[in-house]
Amino acid sequence: MTYPTLTQSEFESVHLFRGVDHTAIEHLLEECFFHQLEAEETLIAPESDNTHVYVILSGILRIHLIAPTSPAIAHLTVGACVGEMSMIDNEEASAYVIANSRSRLLVIPRTTIWRMIAVSHYIARNLLYVLSRRVRSTNEIVTESIKRETLLEQYAMVDSLTSLYNRRWLDEYLVRMMLRCHRSQQYLSLILIDIDRFKQYNDTQGHLGGDCALSALAKMMSRHLRPGDAAARYGGEEMVVILPGADLAEGRNIAERLRLAVQNMVITMADGAGLPSITISLGLAIMSPGSDITPMQLLASADQALYQAKHEGRNRVCVSASCPPSPLVGEGVGG
Ligand code: GH3
Ligand code: MG
Ligand code: MG
Repeated sequence: MTYPTLTQSEFESVHLFRGVDHTAIEHLLEECFFHQLEAEETLIAPESDNTHVYVILSGILRIHLIAPTSPAIAHLTVGACVGEMSMIDNEEASAYVIANSRSRLLVIPRTTIWRMIAVSHYIARNLLYVLSRRVRSTNEIVTESIKRETLLEQYAMVDSLTSLYNRRWLDEYLVRMMLRCHRSQQYLSLILIDIDRFKQYNDTQGHLGGDCALSALAKMMSRHLRPGDAAARYGGEEMVVILPGADLAEGRNIAERLRLAVQNMVITMADGAGLPSITISLGLAIMSPGSDITPMQLLASADQALYQAKHEGRNRVCVSASCPPSPLVGEGVGG
């Protein structure tokens, strides 16, 4: 143990001692000692008992949360301290503290810190400041990690080409929506959409041209959605629209409006060059209030209606045979 004779500049660099009268705590500094860490040496590890506060007099310490090999969450430089959290709450350390370079530390025993606080309220104030900075930086780390996680979840659920939800998302969402509509005794319409003769479109316009048509279709679909509706890319050039609360007449209206809008839609390449228009075929299936139809059955019904739309000449809406008859049959609407 070495009695620390801190130089004036060392004393002034210590965040904990800011504004503190040196002479007031001189006798307590005698209870402290110096400790030298070599580069990469571990000072504190999680779940270890820590009974000291360490102040950096020279060198750099870095903090790792999960493992010493995980990316460092912070680098602490001269004047900063570590170990103050476990000193206050008596809990075990929660992070790894490792010397980034050879470092010289002032080691203050826990009991001495409490006595220093009793002698100088500047130390209490400085300690509160250090703690609030620590809480703030922890909040920032947590916020960042939540943001990253949300983004990753989004990537896993959103199709990159069309920015529509993907099939995985749709499968889960459809189950939830059907259950909700079932409980509230509401209709639910499901429209399955497939681009007509898209293989040929790709063959003549190239795959990039086909991609532009797909993106344009997705944008048009999103534009036709009411709040509460949802659209997803079901696979390849097949899309699904879910319309909670929409009965057969409403579902049919929306499907027909979408069909017309797509037929008249202008499609361009990224450089603005024009592309031929596309048409879509749509299969509509309805869940009626009180019906015990499953999501798979509803999708299969829409698929069968879509097949019929293709069979009848494409660019039309067909309604699943299992759906109740609707009084509204518009122009260009089959089924
Ligand atoms: P139909 O009218 O009967 O639907 O004829 P179709 O040619 O559209 O036949 P089908 O639906 O089986 O064709 C699907 C085509 O969609 C084949 C594939 O090349 C194209 N396709 C699927 N996904 C993509 C994609 O991400 N980009 C592009 N450019 N084409 C795609
Ligand atoms: Mg297809
Ligand atoms: Mg097709």
